[in-house]
Amino acid sequence: MGEFELIERYFAAVGAKRPDVTLGVGDDAALLTVPAGHELVACTDTLVAGRHFPDGFEAADIGWRALAVNLSDLAAMGAEPKWATLALTLPALEEDWLESFAAGFATLALQHGVALVGGDTTRGPLTLTVQALGTVPAGTALRRQGAEPGDLLYVTGWPGDAAAGLALLEGTLAGTGANRAALEAKFRRPEPRVQFGQRLRGIASACIDVSDGLAQDLGRLVAASGRAAIVRAAELPLSRALFALAGEARARDYALGGGDDYELLFAVPPTARSALARAMSSAGAPACHCIGEVVSGRGVRVVGEKGDLPVPRGWDHFPS
Ligand code: ADP
Ligand code: MG
Repeated sequence: MGEFELIERYFAAVGAKRPDVTLGVGDDAALLTVPAGHELVACTDTLVAGRHFPDGFEAADIGWRALAVNLSDLAAMGAEPKWATLALTLPALEEDWLESFAAGFATLALQHGVALVGGDTTRGPLTLTVQALGTVPAGTALRRQGAEPGDLLYVTGWPGDAAAGLALLEGTLAGTGANRAALEAKFRRPEPRVQFGQRLRGIASACIDVSDGLAQDLGRLVAASGRAAIVRAAELPLSRALFALAGEARARDYALGGGDDYELLFAVPPTARSALARAMSSAGAPACHCIGEVVSGRGVRVVGEKGDLPVPRGWDHFPS
């Protein structure tokens, strides 16, 4: 099987069929229609084997994750995902691996109506780069800037679970049974908050997705807004599985500094609280907890019962 057959067999018809795809896989580039009055929202994220997932990670999970981390960025912008491209660098051509990878990717793509419209296929160390494309009504995208003092800070889901799941896979955290399975699943198959991100348009004053650790990503949100944040340690949502396997102190460290959550972290002005309550009670909305507030100043403080706690730094590929 050559490169051409590989693309034809595994990537020519992945994901949703969309009427706004005039031309998808097979030409030199794709032709896509952006609706009038909308902006195109584009993002890209790379996964490198051994760096973003452990060696031996299942191909279907790699396919899912490669798309999920990108859909999470679109969710954080309040965008509706529509299209994706996939640059695939493979050490070898293994049909079982490709089949399973494409299936994992397609499962998530179909859930969110995303069409795979192009890509590139090369040989080299296993690396996956996905570009996700979506749209928002012009002027309505959520951004990191915009949070004001007095806004409440919320996070979806259960931060720390995915980092603990990775620690379990890598053997730096011990655990068995249902708790282990639940945490590992959070790392293997993050659920990007795509619908909820769109619901937050007109409600959130600022938004970011948590990929590198809650404290660090919150730092980015308030830095972009020119503000500071106070997080109350006691309000951090910790899942029962995380609490059971890691204990409270370590669970909090995973939640604040772990990364790989792909949850939404956002600020809500007091005037939008009832709109948020409606969004939170809409069908399919994720769990959502208030963890603190925006204040003037700069930086992130985490306040515990006995004063300030150290703020973990989170993920940095090039630490200084
Ligand atoms: P070119 O040499 O013009 O870049 P390629 O031979 O690389 O074209 O790709 C042929 C077609 O297949 C293009 O439409 C490209 O977008 C698509 N394609 C290549 N690799 C992938 C992939 N891994 N997933 C999806 N589409 C792909
Ligand atoms: Mg090419």
